[in-house]
Amino acid sequence: MRKVVVVGCGNVGMAYVSNLVSTKGLVKEIVLIDKDRDKILGDAMDLSHASVVYNNNVTIKAGTYKDCFNADIVVITAGFNQEKGQSRLDLISKNKRIIEDITREIMISGFDGIILVATNPVDVMCQVVKNVSNLNSNRVIGTGTMLDTDRIKYLLSQKIKVNTENIHAYVLGEHGDSSFAVWSRSTIGMVPIKETVSDEDLDIIETEARNLAYKIIKYKGYTNYGVGMCLHKLTKAILNDENVVLNVSSPVDGIYISMPSVIGKDGIKGTMKIEFTAEEELKFNNSKEVIKEAINSLEE
Ligand code: NAD
Repeated sequence: MRKVVVVGCGNVGMAYVSNLVSTKGLVKEIVLIDKDRDKILGDAMDLSHASVVYNNNVTIKAGTYKDCFNADIVVITAGFNQEKGQSRLDLISKNKRIIEDITREIMISGFDGIILVATNPVDVMCQVVKNVSNLNSNRVIGTGTMLDTDRIKYLLSQKIKVNTENIHAYVLGEHGDSSFAVWSRSTIGMVPIKETVSDEDLDIIETEARNLAYKIIKYKGYTNYGVGMCLHKLTKAILNDENVVLNVSSPVDGIYISMPSVIGKDGIKGTMKIEFTAEEELKFNNSKEVIKEAINSLEE
């Protein structure tokens, strides 16, 4: 069918949809859902005209939750974003209520596809979607640390002047302040990263990557293009059954947290087990605790 429904057509949702529309042959139908009906009526018209540029035969419309019933993928990008200085976890209670309502509506339609989640705090919101939808946990996927991983690759590439394609660096854990770089598994080409970049520079880059969202939000009030591209990459991986390994928010030990996972037509086909160093293990366990505490705070 190659049908995608996007719930929440603000900065993130529309950055994603605009990528979809410009990729020939990826999707046949895109349905927009948002509580602001006028905005999506306008966006659907605007994007329909944009699709003619590439002549890619995609139908775009403003729809309702009934449209989810035969969708391959529903992407949730609705909810509040961070204000200046706010952490992702600060959004937890108000976004939980929104995501619960949205997930119920999606499931009432008879939907049986894959749900991608970008709404923050994304690891916790994946758990909310999973609990309300009762979908198999491999069919609920969060963008997780995909974007953090791309940010760290960008910063390394700027520092050492090597193409990002040859920088194999990874950020795992919570998509939030406890995320961490897995330097022990990172390489430039085939060379271990620690043989090329000093520990001091790696520390600086890791901290900088963690703070980039705050920096962008300080300038423009939100971030959207990076995560829009990540959602596009995930959509492509699923619809084309690519079996590509991505650092997404995946079910691990009863919570959602980012680990490298194989993504294809059934969603998460498998999650890799990484042998961390003792220090990385501590950071991973800390991230797990942060997510667990956040989930527990919702149940109190
Ligand atoms: P935005 O305010 O621009 O868009 C949110 C949209 O959701 C709005 O159009 C709003 O009308 C809609 N909406 C709100 N409640 C709704 C409901 N109940 N039903 C339907 N639509 C509803 O916000 P944004 O900048 O697009 O951010 C969206 C989310 O994405 C935020 O939670 C933000 O933190 C998150 N985000 C995640 C990442 C990531 O890497 N995972 C990156 C950037 C932003």
